[in-house]
Amino acid sequence: MIGKIAYVFVLFLSITACVTKKVDVKSTNAPVIDGKLVKNISEFKVAVETLQPGDEIVLANGVWTDTELKFYGKGTAEKPIILRVQEKGKVFLEGQSNIRIGGAYMHVEGLVFRNGHTPSGAVIAFRKDKEMPCNNCRVTECVIDDYNPSERFDSDYWVEIYGKNNRFDHNYLVGKRNRGVTLAVRMKTEADRENHHRIDHNYFGYHPILGSNGGETLRVGTSHYSLSNSNTTVEDNYFEHCNGELEIISSKSCQNTFRNNTFYECQGTLTMRHGNETLVENNYFFANRKANTGGIRIINESQTVRNNYLQGITGHRFRGTLVVMNGVPNSPLNRYFQVKNSEASNNLVIDCDHIQLCAGSDEERSATPIDTKMTNNIFYNTKKDDVFTVYDDISGIEFDGNLLSTNIVFPKNKGKKLEKGFAAETLEFIEKDGIKRSKSHPNIGPDQSKPRPGRDNTGLSWYPKKDYQVRFNTGKVIPAYPGENTILEAVKKSSKGDIIRLMGTGQYHGSKAISIPHTLTIEAGSGLEGKPQLTFERSSLFNIENGGSLTLKGLEVSGAECDDYAGNTVVRTSRYSMINNYKLMIQDCNFKDLDVNHSFNVLKVYKNTFADSILLDNSTFENISGHVLNLDKEIDDTGIYNVENVVIRNCKFNDIGGVALNLYRGGRDESTFGPILDLHDTTFDNIGHDKRNKYKASVSLHGVQYADMRNLNFNEVKKVNLHLIVGDPIIKIENAQFTNSEELISNDDAYQSTNIIYKNRN
Ligand code: CA
Repeated sequence: MIGKIAYVFVLFLSITACVTKKVDVKSTNAPVIDGKLVKNISEFKVAVETLQPGDEIVLANGVWTDTELKFYGKGTAEKPIILRVQEKGKVFLEGQSNIRIGGAYMHVEGLVFRNGHTPSGAVIAFRKDKEMPCNNCRVTECVIDDYNPSERFDSDYWVEIYGKNNRFDHNYLVGKRNRGVTLAVRMKTEADRENHHRIDHNYFGYHPILGSNGGETLRVGTSHYSLSNSNTTVEDNYFEHCNGELEIISSKSCQNTFRNNTFYECQGTLTMRHGNETLVENNYFFANRKANTGGIRIINESQTVRNNYLQGITGHRFRGTLVVMNGVPNSPLNRYFQVKNSEASNNLVIDCDHIQLCAGSDEERSATPIDTKMTNNIFYNTKKDDVFTVYDDISGIEFDGNLLSTNIVFPKNKGKKLEKGFAAETLEFIEKDGIKRSKSHPNIGPDQSKPRPGRDNTGLSWYPKKDYQVRFNTGKVIPAYPGENTILEAVKKSSKGDIIRLMGTGQYHGSKAISIPHTLTIEAGSGLEGKPQLTFERSSLFNIENGGSLTLKGLEVSGAECDDYAGNTVVRTSRYSMINNYKLMIQDCNFKDLDVNHSFNVLKVYKNTFADSILLDNSTFENISGHVLNLDKEIDDTGIYNVENVVIRNCKFNDIGGVALNLYRGGRDESTFGPILDLHDTTFDNIGHDKRNKYKASVSLHGVQYADMRNLNFNEVKKVNLHLIVGDPIIKIENAQFTNSEELISNDDAYQSTNIIYKNRN
């Protein structure tokens, strides 16, 4: 540790020293710089050839396209070799660029990767090649911004750390969209283990839902080497909306430390997936009651989870607030080791919904936690009484000194309430700097003497932070009037977030398909008597291209004027992989007469596309020969699917030949949350009877992990089909009436049904 501090200190001195030996470059506007200024890759390569301790290479301002930097050499602790930029924020690596760093005491600063993707397996690799890892190297103040390939399942890493004693700090990584961990600590060879890397003060920004395993923001090790020590420290980082998958962080090696990090509204957990003796302390989780947010998941031996602050976390099961897993007896490396000799203490848990004990208990995961302690934690949630879920025998967990708000029901073991180890107390809190602290037990919770990581004290200051979320109605209003291709013309003039407002109730006819390249709303103007009518003649009306999202509001869409071909659709996604997730919102619309030929759909999706959300609200769908929502294009059964959230409310489906809704997620992978369905106050009349409806269902849910269905009317419909496979799906159906219809069927009775009525006409 002293060595590390000395190195950082020396480095600081050397940078300071450099500033004093200014070398003027013969350029009018360029600032004075030190080191060897290089203007292209050839000059860079020449400069690398002769690097000596203390040397500096400076990348000239400008855009470096398709530039693969191999920066290697042997610096010393006193004289590292430095690669930096002429001016921060004015040097960009674009197209197919990357950097590999090899040798020792190499220092990289100020690179920005954007507008492209790495041609290799990593954007930044801490090794030149297999033979030359990097030791005692540092990457600081670098940016990787939305630097993704076009194929969402072509995998790469943004940062791969090999070697030993490396530091990755004050970087800004945002918008990882394809498969592959954002930052991985690799442990492939002896030279990569017991590495003592330090990952600190980074800003890990928005990581959208991948809809598959492989969307972790940080991974330390892999199952294969998980019983080796990594000794990586992850501290003082800020994680914001890191929603890629179940694991925000996957610790897969021994003796790692995760300390003083902030997790802001992240849909996932810090998971001790493999490996032992990991310390998780003084972290802050601010979930603000966002859906699917999680906390800390404990697996394996000798894990310590202490003095963390967890607030407003809503996720359940594997993304609970505090999750202690069951293990597999004699587990292979890649499954679940039993929790042993572990501890969760002094954690302050405020307004969180689910503490999960023996989570994952099933026939395979039957080894309950042993020699484990939960002590002196505060669990405070006045709005929810049943915070604890006990899935198996918890007699191997010793409870002591835990405080509960007075409403919370004590956990039970084998049906018997635990009297020992818990006390109900009227807890009062003092709030300071956004943190609640108990008046009577001020020592429970995080040590606030160290600055808490946030947006302003992590990453770097010189690169703008954009909003990466899809947001509707943030731009200008563009009017459109009845006529031919008037919507298309308005779309061509639009930019992200704009609203195209249809100013009259007449016919808007599309003789060409309309590409939606960005987030757009197409809506009826206010005060119209009736809905503007959209007709079209091509095989689709709207094509949501990569980067596009669409809201349709207050419109009538008719397929009566379409060309007489099979397989028309109102909306389709790109036919190619979409690296950007999209949203489709249909509100107050009427879809009708989609029946000029067979298999006419409302929405047609393609493989390798993913919707964050699809909403059908207060709309009618009638006289349709194909499907309304058929989301089944990921059929490899590897836990990949087409949509995260589907909401259907206050809708009417009449005379639909295919399915009203088909959601498909195959395979048993447990890394994702979705698909998630909210379906209510909706009627289904004459659905699914077309002979081409191969699903032979009106509504089919396969591998859906959460479905809340209520107040539904089914009349003359094919079956409602439930196929429960992944984990413990929560499927609820309440107040459903089936008249003269096939029955609801399920492969498993583990769903909740209330008030389901079947009536038959005679
Ligand atoms: Ca994972």
